[in-house]
Amino acid sequence: MNMIYHHAVSTPEEIKARYPVTPEIAETVQARIEALQAIFRGEDPRLLLIVGPCSADNEEAVLDYIARLRRVQEAVAERIFIVPRIYTGKPRTTGEGYMGPLHQPDPEARTDMMKGLLAVRKMHMRAVAETGFTCADEMLYPENHAYLDDLLAYVAVGARSVENQQHRLTASGLEVPVGMKNPTGGDISVMMNAILAAQRPHTFLYRGMEAETPGNPYAHAILRGYTDKHGAPMSNYHYEDLARLSALYAKMGLANPSVIVDCNHANSGKNPLEQPRILREVLSCRRWNGDVARLVKGFMVESYIEDGAQKIGEGVYGKSITDACLGWEKTERMIYDMAEAL
Ligand code: PEP
Ligand code: MN
Repeated sequence: MNMIYHHAVSTPEEIKARYPVTPEIAETVQARIEALQAIFRGEDPRLLLIVGPCSADNEEAVLDYIARLRRVQEAVAERIFIVPRIYTGKPRTTGEGYMGPLHQPDPEARTDMMKGLLAVRKMHMRAVAETGFTCADEMLYPENHAYLDDLLAYVAVGARSVENQQHRLTASGLEVPVGMKNPTGGDISVMMNAILAAQRPHTFLYRGMEAETPGNPYAHAILRGYTDKHGAPMSNYHYEDLARLSALYAKMGLANPSVIVDCNHANSGKNPLEQPRILREVLSCRRWNGDVARLVKGFMVESYIEDGAQKIGEGVYGKSITDACLGWEKTERMIYDMAEAL
């Protein structure tokens, strides 16, 4: 094999011992998991809003952003349950570009995995300690989930990973709700099979051990749009998409039929400023049809302090260096509008 092993990195157990959660944090983590589970069971009528930058590229800007969200969360607490995005790994379509803070805690420096593991744990830990928010992350590398599993509120399996067996089996052992995205090509059956697989129990190899999982009844769908065979972005958040998904859920007999609508990515055609409109349209679909209302449990929005995106090295504070985001002012207005429309 043509691979050089540089050095061993600390195990999840070692890093957790170095940066342990306090009993107070553990309580917050558990309470928020239970609140989310009640939302996915349909017992808590609040809508979920998973919101934050495409990648958590700068600890100070991300923590600043999350502190702003906390103030808004207080104001809309009766109707909306906010889970900030702290996304630590960025899947690259061509394998090129910024890999996220897990690989590059400093986006301008070369990859340093040990530094990255510590940096991402610190960022998630600071979020809960300073704001009371436990956050969402993408499970891009299933083995790495063990470094953060005592801190997360929500996990997504991305469009490029959703057909992968290790992702599906690992999701079956998580307590938190796991959102399965439709794949980039748009095949809904791939996403549904991922949900089915994750809801079942499994035995498999995980971190060098034979692991057994009970199945995760909170695995659910995320619609993120797709690209057609010509590479053009196509949306899948419309009334017909949602009604069809509801019927498919009923046919498959899955637990807790739910969808989160990702308002960015191919759904916005990469125009982040479309996100508030998409959110509003889906809310009106919910009002038209009770099945759709029960199915749609919330939204995912890519948002940061500044609108848009920049190249690495431009150095604008709070502006995305991966997917273009909705800026803070527009995000705040969107959340208040959403609360009012509910
Ligand atoms: C993301 O949520 O930033 C992301 C990478 O999504 P997707 O897997 O849908 O491309
Ligand atoms: Mn993104």
